[in-house]
Amino acid sequence: MKAHDGMYIAGAWRPAATGDTIPVVNPVDEEVIAHVPAGTAADVDAAVRAARAALPAWSATPPAERAARIGAVRDGLVARKDEIAATVTAELGAPLPFSEAVHAGVPILVAGSYADLAATYAFEEKVGNSTVYAEPVGVVGAITPWNYPLHQIVAKVAPALAAGCTVVLKPAEDTPLTAQLFAEIVHEAGVPAGVFNLVTGLGPVAGQALAEHDGVDLVSFTGSTAVGKRIGAAAGAAVKRVALELGGKSANVILPSADLAKAVNVGVANVMANSGQTCSAWTRMLVHTSRYDEAVELARKAAAKYGDRIGPVVSAKQQDRVRGYIERGVEEGARLVAGGPEAPREQGYFVSPTVFADVTPGMTIAQEEIFGPVVSLIRYEDEADAETIANGTVYGLAGAVWAADDAEAVAFARRLQTGQVDINGGGFNPLAPFGGYKQSGVGRELGAHGLAEYLQTKSLQF
Ligand code: NAD
Repeated sequence: MKAHDGMYIAGAWRPAATGDTIPVVNPVDEEVIAHVPAGTAADVDAAVRAARAALPAWSATPPAERAARIGAVRDGLVARKDEIAATVTAELGAPLPFSEAVHAGVPILVAGSYADLAATYAFEEKVGNSTVYAEPVGVVGAITPWNYPLHQIVAKVAPALAAGCTVVLKPAEDTPLTAQLFAEIVHEAGVPAGVFNLVTGLGPVAGQALAEHDGVDLVSFTGSTAVGKRIGAAAGAAVKRVALELGGKSANVILPSADLAKAVNVGVANVMANSGQTCSAWTRMLVHTSRYDEAVELARKAAAKYGDRIGPVVSAKQQDRVRGYIERGVEEGARLVAGGPEAPREQGYFVSPTVFADVTPGMTIAQEEIFGPVVSLIRYEDEADAETIANGTVYGLAGAVWAADDAEAVAFARRLQTGQVDINGGGFNPLAPFGGYKQSGVGRELGAHGLAEYLQTKSLQF
């Protein structure tokens, strides 16, 4: 695959400080498809300097002009949609139709929403005798994961640019090619040099250097809770703004009045999407004891349909991790009704679509983020029990509630300690704030709330 052998810094592809590279592996056949530079602190420093140099002019650029540039990025994403989908499929392993619809499709919606918001957001408002200004925070360090490689980038870069911030992006080492393609699109869209910069590299090297750089005013991180905690601690020590989008263990609560077949089928599909590598996946299915056996059978049948339709997970490391969790589930006494730890194919990092029944709330597979195609069915006795179980993890990112009518489901959803809940299969809204309660994170992405993350407030009284 095509790959740049430099970093996109100050509007040009520049040689990296060292000649070290990182291989990019196709998770379907385990072939190395490209190499990208392994950036170091020196590259990060050059990129942060470029972002700082570009900040005064970009932050003073009228919002309508920033909106026009983001709109041009959106148009570039549309024009190169097929290339994006093929690239995500090559480095993440997602089936091509899913890459086309979701990995390439959703970023177009998100970029479009920020082109609109940049043009219409109230960057200035009157409050009594004050005028309150929303000003850009400054230089943003964006660190993104591999699970939705382009979405995670656009969900940070588009609002940052809309706010008038400049950005240094350190994408996941597993999926750097999509990030390079995005840098090309930003360049072609006429975003001024230095406003967006890309440093590829390893997390503990380039990522850490970016997170700890004095010239970065805000770190926006999406990824594991373990790394997020370290980044949060470093940001706290430096009194630096931080946004963390971390893990989840979301509950899909099926109330007794719900259409059970629909709730189970959509619930299983939600977990199987992207081979379970979705932080907001509804990985715990909570079913009333009166309908539990029926739900287990529906889930078993639903999972069977995914047999050879889902892609692999991203890497051998993730495959081992997911299989380890499946083995742990068996050891702790959960009942396997579909899938299991054996790899379904010899080649590629595939994991079988897996359903566990008789999962109890304290089991490891009911508490920790697995990040693979694994659903756990948990039994509850009454609504109070369901609420306790749903809220009984350190996470609170997303979830779902199903009932015969929306009002009943909404009433229950209001009792959940979580940032986003789908009511009776509500569906994705690119403008809805997304982010976590509890250890799922700090801050919100998407829509106007996502833009506000990149702004700081000044009030003038006169
Ligand atoms: P990770 O947290 O290590 O990686 C995410 C990003 O952080 C990558 O760009 C990585 O290079 C960078 N990074 C890693 N160490 C860093 C450091 N010390 N300082 C700064 N940046 C650093 O996640 P992973 O190892 O790729 O995945 C492990 C688990 O994390 C998954 O199994 C899953 O549970 C979770 N995860 C969650 C999300 C999410 O969307 N919330 C995404 C990916 C992974």
